[in-house]
Amino acid sequence: MTDAKKYNEFAKKYPGVIKRRVPLSRYCTFKIGGPADLLIEAKNPTQLVEIVKLAHQLKLRYLVIGAASNLLFDDAGFRGLVVRYLANNIEVDKTATTAMAWAGCSLNRLVKHAAMYNLGGLDFLANIPGSVGGAIVGNAGCYGKAIAETLIEVDLFNAKTGKVATVSPKELDFTYRSSELKAKPHLIVLSARFKLLPDNKNRILKAIDEEKQLRWGKHPHAACAGSFFKNPPGEAAWKLINAAGMRGVTVGGARISTKHPNFLVNIGGAKSKDVKKLAAKVIEAVKKRMGTTLEPEIRYISAG
Ligand SMILES: Cc1cc2nc3c(=O)[nH]c(=O)nc-3n(C[C@H](O)[C@H](O)[C@H](O)COP(=O)(O)OP(=O)(O)OC[C@H]3O[C@@H](n4cnc5c(N)ncnc54)[C@H](O)[C@@H]3O)c2cc1C
Repeated sequence: MTDAKKYNEFAKKYPGVIKRRVPLSRYCTFKIGGPADLLIEAKNPTQLVEIVKLAHQLKLRYLVIGAASNLLFDDAGFRGLVVRYLANNIEVDKTATTAMAWAGCSLNRLVKHAAMYNLGGLDFLANIPGSVGGAIVGNAGCYGKAIAETLIEVDLFNAKTGKVATVSPKELDFTYRSSELKAKPHLIVLSARFKLLPDNKNRILKAIDEEKQLRWGKHPHAACAGSFFKNPPGEAAWKLINAAGMRGVTVGGARISTKHPNFLVNIGGAKSKDVKKLAAKVIEAVKKRMGTTLEPEIRYISAG
């Protein structure tokens, strides 16, 4: 079956919901990316499973995204189906001090919702602009903490077997900004359960606000995907980039932030190819001058 026929199958199944040829720059924090052939929004886990199942059956290329705050889309867009997971239901169990969140929920919403029950332990995640699903895939975190430490279990849909399974974090090989899921896009995060700690609502909300101010002070205020490179063991990527003389270097619309050199920012009209060229320059300069090979933290999504 041709891709055009597969797209029509989707359009028939989801009339009025499926979007065709929409620019991905609209949906990601980098504000970069050409059109996706198809884009659909899944509002609950059942819908997400149904959509991914159909894509798998049709052998249609697909990508599940959350807030798209850790991605660089291609200038040519995406051949296939992009599924935005927007399911954001949360259930807090005050007695057990746990929370269940659908994976499309934003980290901020989850942390603030738990705070309403005077439950904390997730505060460090509140100002990371991602979804629960994306954060689990990339083991998001800051200040030496990461989401993996807060997980009780994760519900996964396996597009290859068509089955849903609940797994413990031990089974997901979490490491610094990575997990087994990163290399297995057929495993879709539907929801997750978190362990919480008794805390005080006002203290949590104040801590979130203070950390937000801290970020505002040290991060650039421009379209970006957060820290571009992983910190090599025992080193800070921003210091290496700075020492290599790359602060402020610009390619087209992409620039190494002068405020925080591990942020590659879109200063207006940046193309994916500008970002890739700039990232390659950084890697080369840091390798040549400091002897360290930087690895991207963000994920580049090819067009086809
Ligand atoms: C200003 C700024 C600050 C940031 N600060 C931090 C920080 O302090 N710490 C940090 O770790 N990160 C940070 N980030 C990066 C980013 O916010 C996190 O990595 C976040 O967890 C990504 O979540 P997302 O929903 O945006 O994932 P996306 O970018 O949408 O996706 C990331 C990957 O996960 C996959 N994915 C997403 N959802 C699912 C799902 N339900 N099932 C299966 N796969 C899925 C995607 O296919 C993709 O491969 C920052 C980004 C920005 C823009």
